[in-house]
Amino acid sequence: MTVADLVVVGGGPAGAAVAWEAAAAGARVVLAHDGRAPWQPVGQQLAPAARAVLRRMGVDGRAAALARPVHGARSVWADPSAVDEASMLFNPYGPPWAVDRRVLDGLLRMAAREAGVRVVRARARAERAGGGGWRVAGLDDGPVPVPVVVDSTGASSAVSRGRLARRRADRLRCTVWRIPAAEAGPQPWSLVEAVPYGWWYTAPGPAPGGDLTVLQVQGAGGRAPCVPPPHTAARLRCPGPLPRPAAERVATVGRAAPPWAPGLVAAGDAALSVDPLSSSGLRHALELARPAAHAALGLVDGDEAAAAGYAELVAGAFARHLAERRAHHTAAAHYGREPFWRHRSTTGAGD
Ligand SMILES: Cc1cc2nc3c(=O)[nH]c(=O)nc-3n(C[C@H](O)[C@H](O)[C@H](O)COP(=O)(O)OP(=O)(O)OC[C@H]3O[C@@H](n4cnc5c(N)ncnc54)[C@H](O)[C@@H]3O)c2cc1C
Repeated sequence: MTVADLVVVGGGPAGAAVAWEAAAAGARVVLAHDGRAPWQPVGQQLAPAARAVLRRMGVDGRAAALARPVHGARSVWADPSAVDEASMLFNPYGPPWAVDRRVLDGLLRMAAREAGVRVVRARARAERAGGGGWRVAGLDDGPVPVPVVVDSTGASSAVSRGRLARRRADRLRCTVWRIPAAEAGPQPWSLVEAVPYGWWYTAPGPAPGGDLTVLQVQGAGGRAPCVPPPHTAARLRCPGPLPRPAAERVATVGRAAPPWAPGLVAAGDAALSVDPLSSSGLRHALELARPAAHAALGLVDGDEAAAAGYAELVAGAFARHLAERRAHHTAAAHYGREPFWRHRSTTGAGD
C-alpha cells in the first residue's frame, strides 16, 4: 500500500504543476492521470507570462522547441469592417505560443515525475474515509489512504463537485474545427471576429504549415449556423458552412467558492474556469498551482491559513477576469444590443 501525503487526481497542467510544487516542498505525492488526450489537443495558446512556471519546473526549453510563437493578434471587434492588429514584439514576455496540449501536458507530468512524484496512469475515485481522510481507489496497487486530495480533474470537477460550492457566471457553447490553412506562408497570427451571437477565433497550430484551429463561441442555449463571418471566411477561403466539427463542448465561466474544504483543494479549472476569449486558462492553472499546493500541504498539517490565502487569490483572479471580460464585451459596441453581448457586458459586476 502506498503511503502519501497527497493524491492529486487529474494529470493536466494544473495537476502536474501542483504535484511538482508539493514534491519540491518535500511532500510524498501521487498524481493520478487517466491517460485521456485533451478534448482540444491543438489550437490553444499559452500566455507568455505562464512561461515563468515552465522555467521553474525546468521544462521551458523543451516546451519552446515544440511550440510555435504567434506573433500577432488581429481582431474585428468594435467595428465589423475594421481589423485591429496588435504586435507581440514588445511584450516583455515574448509572444504567446501555439501549443500541442498532448506535448505540454506530457512535459509537465515528466517534470513532476523527475521531482519525485509517483505518476500513476489510472482513473482515480476518491471516497471519504473515517477520520476526515480519503481512500483513493483505482490506482495500480490498491486503495490509498491519504489525508488530503487535490481535485485537478478540469471542468468535470469530479472530486469536488457536490463538496465545494460553485459560482457560475456563464455557460458557452464552443465548437472546434481543424481546417487546412488556405493562404501560403506561416500565418503566425490569431484572429477574433465578433458576430451578433458570439465570436469566432482562428489561430495556427503548433506545427508549421499545419491546419488552422477554428473556434465558434456562442451562448450555451444557441445553435447558430456553422458559417464563418467575413474576415474568418476570407482567411479560410471558405464562405459556406464548415464541415463536421472536430469537437464540441459547453464551457462554464465560474469558480469554486471557496476552492477548498478540510482535506480537499481544487486546482486549475476545478477551482477557476475562465472565458476562452481570454486564452488564459492555462496561465491561471499554472500560476495558481503553487498556492494550491501550499494550501494542500497546510491542510495535511491541519493548518488552514494557506488555504484561506489561496481562496483569496482565486476570488481575486476571478473578479479581475470578469472585469476584463465586461470591458471587452462592452467594447464590441456594434453588437451591444444583442442578448449575447448585453448579458456579458454586465455579468459578474457584483462579484
Ligand atoms: C474552447 C476552449 C478554448 C480554450 N482555449 C484556451 C487557450 O487558447 N489558452 C488557454 O490558456 N486556455 C484555454 N482554454 C482553457 C484551458 O483548456 C483550461 O483552462 C486548462 O485545460 C485547465 O487545465 P486543468 O489541468 O485544470 O484541466 P484539464 O486540462 O481539463 O486536465 C484535467 C485532466 O484530468 C484528467 N482526469 C479527469 N478525471 C480524472 C480522474 N478521475 N482520474 C484521473 N484523471 C482524471 C483529464 O483526463 C485531464 O487530463 C480553453 C478552454 C476552452 C473550453
